[in-house]
Amino acid sequence: MEDDADIRSLIDLTLSAQGFVIRTAATGRDGLQLAREWEPDLITLDLGLPGIDGLEVCRRVREFSDAYLIVVSARQDEVDRLMALQTGADDFLVKPFSPRELQARVTAMFRRPRSGAMPVAEEPAAAAGAETVVLGGAPVPADHEVLRHGPVAIDVDGRRAFVLDEEVDLTRTEFDLLTHLMRTPARVWTREALLRTVWGNDWVGDAHLVEVHIGNLRRKLTQASGDRALIHTVRGVGYRMGGAV
Ligand code: CA
Repeated sequence: MEDDADIRSLIDLTLSAQGFVIRTAATGRDGLQLAREWEPDLITLDLGLPGIDGLEVCRRVREFSDAYLIVVSARQDEVDRLMALQTGADDFLVKPFSPRELQARVTAMFRRPRSGAMPVAEEPAAAAGAETVVLGGAPVPADHEVLRHGPVAIDVDGRRAFVLDEEVDLTRTEFDLLTHLMRTPARVWTREALLRTVWGNDWVGDAHLVEVHIGNLRRKLTQASGDRALIHTVRGVGYRMGGAV
């Protein structure tokens, strides 16, 4: 979604060259309709759109889509950029940006589901005991990895999260962060390490991005668990999973 025709075609050409099938819209209204009909894996969203403004579009997208969402904005829109992250955007690009920069961000995002390939202490329960794991009242396919920590359980391959066996609606970035924290519950992750692991090495952004997304994730988990603190902040260092297990 981009109202500037030059930038729109730059994004179109850049992502097409990466093998994506692209649909473009010049207004938020058209973009939202397109996103509903087309269910894309990735959305780029200009914050300065005519009609419905970018922040509102961001909020509405998150009502029905968990697509990766990259906000594109002018340099002076820093406050809007932060608000977009709080509203569920995964990453941002500041204009002017180079095609290579856009490609690097997108590559890093789509690498994420595979980026957590660390040694796992425990085999998935299904493999160990051939027992069916049930989350939220439905069986999890036997080849899915399931991680648990206190009241939190996630189906890694199905990309679904549960607290007290109720499904919690997380954005892709929130889910990726939670997966990394839960894989190594005793580890204290610095913001920089999370940035490198979740956003990828190409991303030389600021650690504030991590703070905002951890904040959103923590709020959702706390709400769903009846006020339990499930992600601890280790002051001056970073984050780890918290609470009695
Ligand atoms: Ca614009």
